[in-house]
Amino acid sequence: MSSTPTVGVLALQGDVREHAVALAEADALARPVRRPEELADLDGLVIPGGESTTMSNLALAFGLMEPLRARVAEGLPVYGSCAGMIMLADKILDGRDDQQSVGGIDMTVRRNAFGRQNESFESPVDFAGLEGGPLHGVFIRAPWVESVGAGVEVLAELPAGPAAGRTVAVRQGNLLATSFHPELTGDHRVHAFFVDLVRAAAR
Ligand code: GLN
Repeated sequence: MSSTPTVGVLALQGDVREHAVALAEADALARPVRRPEELADLDGLVIPGGESTTMSNLALAFGLMEPLRARVAEGLPVYGSCAGMIMLADKILDGRDDQQSVGGIDMTVRRNAFGRQNESFESPVDFAGLEGGPLHGVFIRAPWVESVGAGVEVLAELPAGPAAGRTVAVRQGNLLATSFHPELTGDHRVHAFFVDLVRAAAR
C-alpha cells in the first residue's frame, strides 16, 4: 500500500459524500462501494450514517451482506457512524424483525435509544486518545451501546444529561463505531484516527 490508503464508503444509502470529504481531509483515497467486487482491494471501509433498516435491506438485495461479513472476518478495518454502528453490532435491540447486521463488534446496541425529546441533540464528547479537546458530538436518532463484551474498548461516554454515562464510541481490533456523526462537523479527528488504524493494519 502507498502511504495514501484506499478507504471505501458503503454507498447504498446515507451520508456517503460527507464521509468521503472527511476521509480525503484525513489523507485517504475515498471510493464508493456498491458491489461485492468493489470490496476486494480496499484498505478500509466506512459504513455511513443513514437508516440501518434500509441499509440492511439494500445490502441483502445487492448481495453485499455476506461479502461484508467475510471482509470483516479477514480483519478489514471498518468504521461505522450511527446507522453504521448498528451495522457493526453483533446484536441489535429495537431493530426491525427482518433487520440484519454485518456484525463484528461484540456489543449490543439499542436503535433510536435517546427517545423522543432527545431524538436529535448535540453534546461535547471526550474521545479516548484524541488530542485537542472534546469532539462536538452530533446525535441524530442515534443508537447507544447497551453492553459490550470483554474484547471491546469503550472510547467515549456521554458526559451529562439524561443519558449521562452511556457508551457512544467503541473499538474492537480494527473495528471502530460511534453513535454520533463526526462527518457532519468539519472536525476530522475521528476519521484521522481511523485512517491511522487503517495504515497500521496494512503494515
Ligand atoms: N435511527 C437510524 C437507524 O436506525 C440511525 C440514524 C442515523 O444514522 N443518523 O439506522
